[in-house]
Amino acid sequence: MKIVRWAAALPAALVALAFLQPAAHAESAKPPKVRTVVSLTFDDGDVTHPATARMLQKRGVRGTFYINTDTVGRDAKLTRAQLAAIAKGGHEIGGHTLTHVRLTELTRSEQREQICDDRRTLVAWGYRPTTLAYPFGSVDADAEAVARQCGYDAARGVGGLKEWGCPSCPAAERSRPADRYDIRTPGSVREDTLLRQLRQQVLNAEKSGGLVTLVFHRVCDDCGVYSVSPRTLDDFLGWLVSRKAHGTVVKTLQDAIGARYRPVPGE
Ligand SMILES: [Zn+2]
Repeated sequence: MKIVRWAAALPAALVALAFLQPAAHAESAKPPKVRTVVSLTFDDGDVTHPATARMLQKRGVRGTFYINTDTVGRDAKLTRAQLAAIAKGGHEIGGHTLTHVRLTELTRSEQREQICDDRRTLVAWGYRPTTLAYPFGSVDADAEAVARQCGYDAARGVGGLKEWGCPSCPAAERSRPADRYDIRTPGSVREDTLLRQLRQQVLNAEKSGGLVTLVFHRVCDDCGVYSVSPRTLDDFLGWLVSRKAHGTVVKTLQDAIGARYRPVPGE
């Protein structure tokens, strides 16, 4: 009887063990079903983003848009009305600091102002921001602590995952990232990033499963190093949605990691 009960408990123990395995070993352990989540994030509240949001919607997917509230309404940036239209389309609105600063060069109280006040403004505008993106991917332990204190449930860095510049990096985050306040990504998508490189990042992640978050900025032709052409993005989206047959889905970063809303402390 004792043996039977022990045997019955075994599958659960194996599942728990498989969950603890590093991604690289998961493949050889042959988990029953691997799911890959791709998050598409767009930084800086760029004026090209309303069209980007509509492009995503046509493909049936939603993205995450990171906003610097002090720049909203300025040249080449979103207006409040455009931001509202993006949110209405079902996309996630997240914080990116007030003025797009390098947080690691600031004092703790300056970090607090940049992160908390930006989030407070988003909340005052009617949004429920749960994730932050560090400008330039610049982050240290202080910035992570402040992001948490300001009520964010998670934050995105830039880099740390496999790409052409880091072939030995892991291809995906776990679906529950080890450091929730510095979620890793491949480096930012640039104007010379090829469609096949975007696809390859997803294919690499599919080998282990998990979360791969892509970092985009402007979506326009010949408009700077940190841009992607609308055609490349749309071709990528068309291919990406077809990966559903392989267990790959697109989610906002908030949905991908189950981030929860907390008010800004002191409100
Ligand atoms: Zn940025």
